Parts: sequence; C-alpha cells; structure tokens
Amino acid sequence: MAAQIRLFDQTPAAAVEMPMPLGDALKWNSWYEDHVATRVEVFFAQSAYARCVEHAESDLNHEVGGALIGEVRYDPTAARTYIVIQDILPARYTAAGRAHVTFTQNTLVYLNNELESRFPGKRMVGWYHTHPRFGVFLSGYDAWLHRHFFDDPIQVALVIDPVNVQGGFFCWQTTGELDPKHCTGFYELSDMDGDSIVRWTNLAPALEAARVLEEDGPREKGEGQ
Ligand SMILES: [Zn+2]
Repeated sequence: MAAQIRLFDQTPAAAVEMPMPLGDALKWNSWYEDHVATRVEVFFAQSAYARCVEHAESDLNHEVGGALIGEVRYDPTAARTYIVIQDILPARYTAAGRAHVTFTQNTLVYLNNELESRFPGKRMVGWYHTHPRFGVFLSGYDAWLHRHFFDDPIQVALVIDPVNVQGGFFCWQTTGELDPKHCTGFYELSDMDGDSIVRWTNLAPALEAARVLEEDGPREKGEGQ
C-alpha cells in the first residue's frame, strides 16, 4: 500500500492555546459574513498584509501568488481555532498563464523548503494569489488547488484584486465545504505604528457595530446635559 504523500504539515504541531488578541485587532467584514461559517478566525499581521499587498501590486497584468506563513492557535474561552498570518512567501516556479497563476509541483516543493529553512516552527496556513481586474472569488482551478494541497481545515485562500483594490479569504466551512463565491474578512492585527493600513474597498470595519453597542449601553445616553 502506498502511503499518501503530503507536501505540507507532515508533523503538525498542536495548536497553541492563547486567547484571541482582540484588543490589538480591528475586524474587517466582507459583504458576505452572513453567508459564511468558517472553521477558523483569521488574524492578519499588518506587516504581513503590507508585504502581501506590495507583492500583489507588483504586477497588475499577471497573477502572482505565494504562501501565507504563521501560527495556528486555539482560544479555549471562545472555543475557537484561529490562525495568525505573520509573513508571506512569494511563489517561484509558477507557470504564468495569462489568466491564471499555476502552482507547479516545483512551486510547492520550493514553498515547503523555504518554510522549513526560513520559518522553522511556523505553518503554511494558506496561500494567496491575485486576480487583476477579475474580482475576488475562487475559480474552478483555484478550488481544485485548495482542495488538493491546502486541505487542512485551518488552511485558507486569500484572493486579491490589486486593480479594484479588493481582497478576501476563502476558508473551509464548518460543513466541511469550500465556498468559492463568498469571501470573508479578517482581523487586522496591529504590529506596526499608527492606524489601520487596510485599504480593500470590499471590506468594512466592524467598528460601527461596536460603537452602537457602546452608545446603547446603560447610562450612556444622558437626558439633557
Ligand atoms: Zn484565481
């Protein structure tokens, strides 16, 4: 019997137990949050987001892509698994079609080798690629790639449209399925000085809801003065 060959996560470490860093994060919602029920929450460190956007904007005519590097954690209070994207690895050895970036076997071997040598102890928590002008969704090929090489429930697919300045995550759903049409947002995890750096126009900060809750709280609405 042939053993199944897995390129990634041959010895997955147990998720570290740690509360979600909500105090250092800003939640960004997509248009579709009501349609998705993801297996994981996604925390995206600002430094990694900045690198990812820079790579995405480096070619507005062809698709580019790579791996998302980080950690898998578990919040025992919320009973929720979450990933923290801490860096990116631009892919090499891709077959650059006009419409689609294709991850070849060499791409996957390269990414795995780089992960082991440059990011010891980290996980490949997903992959990203661009759709210049096409919008944010998973094509048939994208979904095939995700199902075959990123089938761990914690692994996510990020699609960025650098022309329309949009982006979103596609995650394994609690049903075990992958929804190729409805992306979800993420938590922008502060690790740089200053304010939010997220510019994707298809996402909106969840601040409004938080502010309304605060204002509607007891004793917040004084009469008169
Ligand atoms: Zn695609």
